Order: sequence, then C-alpha cells, then structure tokens
Amino acid sequence: MNKFSVDLTNCDKEPIHIPGKVQSHGFLIAVEQSTYNISYISENALFFLKSAPEDLLEKSVSIINKFINPQAIEFDIEDLLKLGIVRKSFDAISPYPIKIGDKPFYLIISSSQNEWLLEFEPLTLQYDIQSLIGRAASAMLQGKTVTALLQGAALEVKKLINYDRIMIYKFLDGGHGEVVAEEKEPDLEPFFGLHYPASDIPQQARELYKLNLTRLIADVNKEDSPIITFKENQPLDLTNGSLRAVSPIHIQYLKNMGVHSSFSISLISQGELWGLIACHNYSPKFIDYKAREGSKLIGQILSSALEYRQDEENSEIVTQFKNTANILTAHLNRDKYLADALTDHDVNILDVTTATGAVLIFENEIRTIGAVPTNDEINELAEWLKSSSDESIFYTHRLSEIFSPAKRYKNIASGILACSLSKELNEMIIWFKPEQIATVNWAGNPDKETLKPTADGLLSLSPRKSFEIWSQVVNNTSQKWLPEEIASVLRIREIIISNVNKKANEIRLLNEKLQNAYEELDTFSYTISHDLRTPLTSIKTYAELILRNKSIDESAKKMLGRILTGADKMNFLIKEILNLARVGRSDIHFENVDMQSLLNEVIAEVSAAYKMDKAELVLGQLIDLKGDRTMLVQVFTNLITNGVKYSSKVDKPKIEISAYIDGDETIYRVKDNGMGIDNRYYNRVFELFKRMDNAKDIEGTGVGLAIVKRVMERHNGRVWFESELNIGSTFYLAFKNK
Ligand code: ADP
Repeated sequence: MNKFSVDLTNCDKEPIHIPGKVQSHGFLIAVEQSTYNISYISENALFFLKSAPEDLLEKSVSIINKFINPQAIEFDIEDLLKLGIVRKSFDAISPYPIKIGDKPFYLIISSSQNEWLLEFEPLTLQYDIQSLIGRAASAMLQGKTVTALLQGAALEVKKLINYDRIMIYKFLDGGHGEVVAEEKEPDLEPFFGLHYPASDIPQQARELYKLNLTRLIADVNKEDSPIITFKENQPLDLTNGSLRAVSPIHIQYLKNMGVHSSFSISLISQGELWGLIACHNYSPKFIDYKAREGSKLIGQILSSALEYRQDEENSEIVTQFKNTANILTAHLNRDKYLADALTDHDVNILDVTTATGAVLIFENEIRTIGAVPTNDEINELAEWLKSSSDESIFYTHRLSEIFSPAKRYKNIASGILACSLSKELNEMIIWFKPEQIATVNWAGNPDKETLKPTADGLLSLSPRKSFEIWSQVVNNTSQKWLPEEIASVLRIREIIISNVNKKANEIRLLNEKLQNAYEELDTFSYTISHDLRTPLTSIKTYAELILRNKSIDESAKKMLGRILTGADKMNFLIKEILNLARVGRSDIHFENVDMQSLLNEVIAEVSAAYKMDKAELVLGQLIDLKGDRTMLVQVFTNLITNGVKYSSKVDKPKIEISAYIDGDETIYRVKDNGMGIDNRYYNRVFELFKRMDNAKDIEGTGVGLAIVKRVMERHNGRVWFESELNIGSTFYLAFKNK
C-alpha cells in the first residue's frame, strides 16, 4: 500500500471489502459455487492444516474433509454447503464446531458473489455463554433513560468480553461522533464526551457496519495473511466475512492509541447506523465467536430499546414544550402586559426550546433571559433579521457565517431561532444556542499533544487529533435546532399573535365606547351648562332685586349675600364645564399665534381676576406657536391662574413663563414656587374634578388641568409636570414644530 500523507479521509477511497488478506488468527477457504472447487485460500492455511495452500487450490472442497477430525463431525463439508443452499441461509449452520487434529475450531460459512466463504477460527470459550447473555440483556434494560440504557450496555458488554475500555459512540449531524457512554479500567484516561470528525469513520466502513454487525481485530501487531487464487483480477469480496483484514490506516490509528485489540458492534436504529459499541483492549485479545454473537445480540437489543426510549424521550420533550405553551397561555390571559406574561415567571419563553438564552423585543423594550448578547448587539441582529428574512420564522446553527458581527458573541449565539411577532414594528423573539464546542465536556485534554508524522508518513492519528479536526469542523456552529423546537416556537407564536389580536380588539372596542361616552358627555355638559345658566341668572337677578329692597333686615341681607356668592361660584363652574365641552366639540383652527400678545392678554385677565399685588410674573424667551388661539388662551389662563393661586401663600410668589426648542418640539414652561403637588397622585392631577388635599382651602373646580390636557391632545402635543411639595411646580407643554 502506498504511503498516506494526511488523514483518515484517505480511507474513503480505500476498497476495504476486498483487502486481499485475512487476519491470521483464523484461515479462509473460498469455494466456487458453480464447481464446488476451492478458488481462494489464505496462505496461513499452511500453519493450521500443515499442507501447502497452493496444492489445495482448484481442488474439490471435499478435500478439506481429510483435515477434519471425523469423530467431531456429522456431515462432510459438501453436505454442509448443500444444507445451507437448501435452507437458503447458513445462519443455522454457522458456527459449526469441528476439530482439526485435536484443536477445536468453528467453521463459519457465508456467501460472497460467486463463492462461499469458509472461515475457520479457534474455539476458545469453555462455558455456556447463553445464560450470561440473557442476564446481561435484562440488566441493561433496567435503564429507564437513554443515558442509563447506554451506560448499562457498556457495563454488560465489558463483563461479557472483558476488554479494558468499552465506549458507546453516537453519530451526530454530518456524521460527527461523540462518546456518549464509557466503561473502562480505572487507570485509563477517560474518552467520555470526546468528539471526533466524520472522517474518522469513512463512509464505506459505515456501509459495512450496517451489513456486518460486529468486527474483531484480535491483534493489531499480527501480520495479516494474504489470500491466494488462480483467478486473475478478481479480488474476493469479504463483506460478509469475519476474518477480513482491516485498513492499515485504521490499524495505525489503533496503534497510536496504544490499542492492541479492537472489537465493535453496530447499533442500528430505523435502518440507519445510530452508533457503535467500540471496545479496546491494551493487549492482544481474541473474542470467541459465541461471545461476539452474544455481544451482537446485546447490540441488537440495545438498538431496539434505544429506538423505543428515544421516541419516549422525544415525546417527553414534546409534552414538556406543550406544557410550557399551556402555562404561557395562562400567563397571557391573566397578566396585563404581554412582556410580563412571557418573561416574568418561572416558566417563560426560555422553556419554549432547549436554548440557553432568549430575548423578547416588544413595544420598544428588550427583555432578556439567560445567556444573550448585549442590547446593542441584539438591536443590530434584529435590524439584520428584519432586512434579510421575510419569513415568520428564521433559524440557523451557523449564524456568524451569514452575519459576521455574530463572531464576537459566537460563544453565546452561534445558533439563533427568531420568530417575528410584528414585521412593521420589528417585534420578535430570538432564542440563542452557544457554539457547540463550548458545550463539549471531554474529560481528556485536547491540547496536550502535538502531532508529528510517523516514519511511514502517516500523521500520528489519535483521539486528540480527532478532537482537533472535529473542533475545526464545528467551529462557529451551535447544536442544530430540533424539529420539536421549531414546532414549539410556531405554537407559541400562534398563541402570542392571537393574544395580541385579542387585546387589540378589546382596546379598539373600548376606544369606540370611550369615544361615544366622550361625545355624549360633551353634549350633556354643553346642554346642561347652557340650560342651567338661565335659571341661575334668574336666581341672581331676583336676589339682587330683593337686596335692593330697603325693608329687609341685616340677617336677610347676609343670606342673600350667600345666595349671590353661591350663584357666582355655580356660574363659574358652569362656564368652566362649558369651556371643557367646547374643547371637545369645536373645530380646531390652526394659525400662527403671537405669544407675546397672547400672554399679555392672559396676564391682564388673570391680574384682574386675582389679587396679584405680591406675585411677580416673569416672561422669559417666548416662541410663537402654531395652534388654535382661543384654546391656547384657555391653556395659559389655566396654568398661570394655578401658578398664582397655589403660590399665594408663600412670601414672594414668582411665576415664570418661557419657551425653548427641543428636537422637533417647542416646549413652554410655566413655573411657580408655590405649595407643589404630591407626586403620589401624579397621574390623577389631570382628571376632571380632581383636587389635591393641600389645595382644598384655595378656590377651584378641578376642571382647569382637564381642559389643558384635552387642548394639548387636540394639538397632538403633550403636557406633564415636575413638582416638589412646598418648593414649587413646573408645567411643561410640548408642541410639534410642523
Ligand atoms: P383647580 O385649580 O380648579 O382646582 P385644576 O384642574 O387646574 O383645578 O387643578 C387640579 C388640582 O391640581 C388642583 O386642585 C391642585 O390641587 C393641583 N394643582 C394644579 N396646579 C397646581 C400648582 N401650580 N401648584 C400646586 N397644585 C396645583
């Protein structure tokens, strides 16, 4: 064989089913099906039969009978072959115990293309292994989870064949593998958790593993025995043979690990190679055919148990995801805010998948759970997602390959699963999975050894080299998203969107109701205030008439005085309500408003109405506004009146009015140094008729700020205030500058 230069991928091209050699712990004779003549024979037949193999070539198979101890055989070889042909299988015949001289052997018959393969190997087992296998199988099946099952299988196989190390390899995505269970002698370095690249087990070897469920390499240092034949250019297909010699690359690999014998059992699930039970021994060790068959049976039982348990575990995951969906639905129905419902409880959006981090981007807010990138990185990712995918769901397990900024946080998010909640608002949930390598837990040290080519040009292949190659292959990738996870995310998306729609509908209905109520209230207030004014005017007029009458005494005068004050108050209240109703009802007329003149007018009016001898009114920078002048007069009258009223008890009341520009808004500020407002009632101050406790002995109706708020709403503006008790209040009005 030529020298190989790099790695195990060379094996992909190697015709391993026709190696032209057998392992020399046994020997092989191939019999041509059409003639019953010996057409191939391994050279080491000489050693076992003490007869030159080339002399046996082209002879009838019956010549073999003379080497076999007649006391130990009921049939001759030809009869055995015929029996197999009639039964269409040699399974019931193999292994057939015979003796050559006084040495016990098994004859194992299988078929190749044009020949039958007769393999002779030593019989070494002295006891009945059958009962042991039964016990091993039932002990293994005690394992309730896939992990326990695998561990049990490794233990039972170790007991059965007594090798130094038993590993269970599982094939992962892309043909990579992982050691998922291990039983070993205590002094050996653990391989549990080790990952290796797909190239470690070449494709055609995998195919053979499916056809041939066990393979033994009894001694890596023992020379193989060449097969000789008279058939030119027709190599013998040893696919079904058990003595088949192994690829020198594989032998080298084992030697590099210090392994002397290796045995592997295929694990097949749903017709595919699920994994291998790989057994290593650090000294040569042959395993008797029956023990190999026993191990094969354990492998088969394990395979079907795995299928069942895996299904069970998958359905457990699905059940768990469904439970999460139910719990989140309950939260959504109960909680006022969607973001709280999805992130504030023990069960939250992180439980929708097996991700290690999740983020909810909703209503301009970012909520995160678990390991996630920074907010800036999340925003950048969300923008990219918006521009690059129109689908409601997007997922990848190699994010940084398509979105390079993600390289920075590949240890947190090499995999993302994003589900869009609203395209327009770019609202979404993203789940994150870390780079796979970060989650690997190999007890061995992948960095310990440097790799040097060996004398024959092979790189010294070893578990470390495998790990290194695997690490490069899986660089920047996370574990894949499972179909169950994607289904779970779709389910949650459905639930959230229907909840959002439901809430939006509720709000729309409420809005309509509110709108109607507003209109009714406006009409009502307007009518009633209007209608009340006439009788009130009569009360006032008649009270004044009576008051003019000289014959009434002092106490009657006093009472009439009270009637008049009451009527005035009532008149004022009615006017205020009428004003409020007008703001809602009347059309808005935008015009350029000269603020200097408007404020002069307002101040004159306020000064006339209130005693302002103490108060200082300061006008700072003013900026003209675009708005409804009448309504603006109302706004400033109310705010300045409040400033004057609620600072009337301090020594030097001061009310300042000024304006400034902030972004696309003009802000007016009305500041006083009066009694202030208790911030606990912040949100209630603008409510109709709401008056604070500290303002009770100052005249007022609780209508003014409600008017201010409505005017600002009609101008698409905003109003808010800052206040501190006994220090003063500042009211802000923000008008859009367009
Ligand atoms: P009114 O002044 O007629 O009571 P408003 O609607 O104008 O009604 O104000 C509502 C309440 O807010 C007032 O009763 C008062 O308690 C509080 N308030 C308003 N402006 C001020 C202010 N500048 N300083 C202190 N409290 C104020």
